[in-house]
Amino acid sequence: MPQTPYPFAGRTLPNYVDGAFVSGAERFPVINPVNGKVLADVALADRATVDAAVCAARRALKGPWGRMSLADRTALLVKVADAIEARFDDFVAAEIADTGKSLLQATKTDIPRGAANFRSFAALAQARATQCFESDTADGLGAINYSIARPLGVVAIVSPWNLPLLLLTWKVAPALACGNTVVAKPSEETPSTATLLAEVMDQVGMPAGVFNLVHGFGGHSTGEWLVSHPHIDAITFTGESATGSAIMRGAAADVKPISFELGGKNAAIIFEDADFDAAIAGTMRSVFSNCGQVCLCSERVYVARPIFDRFVAELAIRAKALKIGDPFDGADMGPLISAQHREKVLGYYRLAAEEGATIVTGGGVPHFGNDLDRGSFVEPTILTGLSDDARCVREEIFGPVCHIAPFDDEAEVIERANDSRYGLAAAVWTNDVKRAHRVARQLEVGVVWVNDWFLRDLRTPFGGVKLSGIGREGGEHSLAFYSEPMNICIKL
Ligand code: NAD
Repeated sequence: MPQTPYPFAGRTLPNYVDGAFVSGAERFPVINPVNGKVLADVALADRATVDAAVCAARRALKGPWGRMSLADRTALLVKVADAIEARFDDFVAAEIADTGKSLLQATKTDIPRGAANFRSFAALAQARATQCFESDTADGLGAINYSIARPLGVVAIVSPWNLPLLLLTWKVAPALACGNTVVAKPSEETPSTATLLAEVMDQVGMPAGVFNLVHGFGGHSTGEWLVSHPHIDAITFTGESATGSAIMRGAAADVKPISFELGGKNAAIIFEDADFDAAIAGTMRSVFSNCGQVCLCSERVYVARPIFDRFVAELAIRAKALKIGDPFDGADMGPLISAQHREKVLGYYRLAAEEGATIVTGGGVPHFGNDLDRGSFVEPTILTGLSDDARCVREEIFGPVCHIAPFDDEAEVIERANDSRYGLAAAVWTNDVKRAHRVARQLEVGVVWVNDWFLRDLRTPFGGVKLSGIGREGGEHSLAFYSEPMNICIKL
């Protein structure tokens, strides 16, 4: 695919408030992590801009949007999906510029899913069941009860940088499908596709104030001003567990509904009877996709002892063969999101050595001899030999790295996989169907993939347990979060 130019070159990325693109006095840069160069300036939304966005969203609930039929509302969302697809190359160029993610990842997952979220939730909202009711109450008191789903109101959406458009639209689409209005704050690292989404909303004629976008940082900045605004009705957030915890403390005062998709320290379990090649290929994806920056990535890999040495050797061969570099130059793996995040990941690489790990491959920084040396690249890294209580085995690193440990029996590996403060996802590799069912249901996580990884049907519940989140989104679970059921009782 020829490289489409970055759509905001030489421009300031604006906020989008009440149907207008606005910039304030303050700016911050967005950096290309492939070479460390400034891509563009972003207009930071100050408190007044956040306030204007929330007030516009509140007014819009009473405007044409609030009166719009479900059919017209969902038709508008389908137009948003069409418009994303019509500007597919711009979205790909913007997403890669901000993140450095591979062309394959951007073209096959991030941008198509951005459009699919709107189509999918438009269809789901249309299909939400109408119900038949008994003509009397269960105890014969001569009344009929029915429930309606009402929007929550103004929803604050705060999203991370790893799958920027995908995770933003995953929340914007169902929130709008349910008739809410939104104020969205994308990550400060990845403002570009969110700004393109604002352009798309404008272009399809979304009524003013229904979708608002504010740019800025998290704590003591735009994100905090948004989630603590008294006139928002609910908060949906994807990001680090510690951030979720801070947002939850703020939301507690007004008991606001929250939905949190947080961090993970996910296990992959490879049994001796697994299809070896499929398990290797799947684990390569689950460890190194998006440079290991997917909340679902496997950072703890447990392999049955009889195949442990062979598995480690083969995974290392494949990891060494990954082409690291410029996504537009055919790289399999791009950089980490930022120099700061690289420092964090390299800190864990050093810690692993201190904790006594064997570094099977990687552990450092690749050298290119060109511009890319100013990028945020790290080597794909495989560790072995750590104890289960090593920090590298317990803490989320969020880079292209896994620790592989042998195990001897099923009960033991289930216990070790569950011995984590996180509980987002797991991958189980086995050809024994009984074992697959038996093991999957004992894992303390929100989603288990058997013989695959990150195979998503948007109708299924998605979320985590423990530090990995609160609530479920996806399909009817999203519709349930983004609407408030109201019971109406009619005396007959
Ligand atoms: P982060 O928590 O640092 O930031 C996420 C967003 O929250 C950003 O927009 C940021 O500006 C904002 N923010 C930060 N502090 C805030 C505050 N006090 N108040 C309001 N907003 C605030 O997370 P990140 O580094 O962008 O993303 C990586 C993390 O996200 C990883 O832990 C990863 O596992 C997690 N994640 C989870 C899922 C999931 O579905 N469970 C998906 C993707 C990423």
